[in-house]
Amino acid sequence: MKSFKTLKMLGLAAGLIASLSLPAAAKVKVVGAYPYIAEIARQIGGNQVDASALASGDWDPHFIVAKPSLLTRLNQAQLLVINGAQLEIGWLPPLLRQAGNARIQPGSTGFLELSNSVNLIQKPQQVTRAMGDVHPQGNPHFILNPDNVPKVANSITNKLCQLDAANCKSFKANQSSFNQRWKQASTSWAQRMAKLKGQRVLEYHRLHDYFFTRYGLSLTGTIEPLPGIPPSPQQLADTVARAKSQKVQINVRGVYNPNDPSQFVSQHTGIKLVTLPHDIGAVPEAKDLFSLYDSILRRLGV
Ligand SMILES: [Zn+2]
Repeated sequence: MKSFKTLKMLGLAAGLIASLSLPAAAKVKVVGAYPYIAEIARQIGGNQVDASALASGDWDPHFIVAKPSLLTRLNQAQLLVINGAQLEIGWLPPLLRQAGNARIQPGSTGFLELSNSVNLIQKPQQVTRAMGDVHPQGNPHFILNPDNVPKVANSITNKLCQLDAANCKSFKANQSSFNQRWKQASTSWAQRMAKLKGQRVLEYHRLHDYFFTRYGLSLTGTIEPLPGIPPSPQQLADTVARAKSQKVQINVRGVYNPNDPSQFVSQHTGIKLVTLPHDIGAVPEAKDLFSLYDSILRRLGV
């Protein structure tokens, strides 16, 4: 008993020395391209990281307007975590060049591309300009499959351990607690989503494909004829006819997608129109990853 007590005291002393030698300034400065990335970095990094996002969750993730404040944050970052699969191709590369921060350039230790941790769906066979603003590496909106979240969290944990080895044990402990809570929530989401299994969905953009595929709903296509290109009146009329013949049950748009085309289709078919968030902050109730998923389910009525 005595030796246990001594060990405990030694442990306390070691902990005290460790905390004294690591002032608050030692926090790893993490910049995530999108809110969900900053949130996972916070969940894993706890008090040891200072994480922020470049984009707001209610913005179109394909086109973020560059502001000087983004440049300042890129300048100071020790770690830049991007979604990848070319979701940032339309806005981040020029900012990253201007920032001139060697620590976070692609290929550096302070750079992490999350798409490398997951399996992408919808990889095109060949890419041509006629395909519109296509995602040439596959669908980049993979964070909307709950099974991808722990994979992404694992990559962020490993990267934080690489940059701050002294706190790796605490990062791993946070990861395991996060995974446990995520697993529990995922079980409940799967039970709720089972009610919608087999339902037919029309989307404005291929934004929630990972989500609907995960829960066995059937995707019937998109209102935009090509990614990033709005439909013509004729194409919209064709979509109405197709939605009727395919007996579509749910018409989905992202918060940043134009409202009129989706509303037109719903008015002419009677199909319920649902606006779904794709990231934290896209709707007020999506405050973290758990409430993001929860708000998607609630909006779908389950
Ligand atoms: Zn997209």
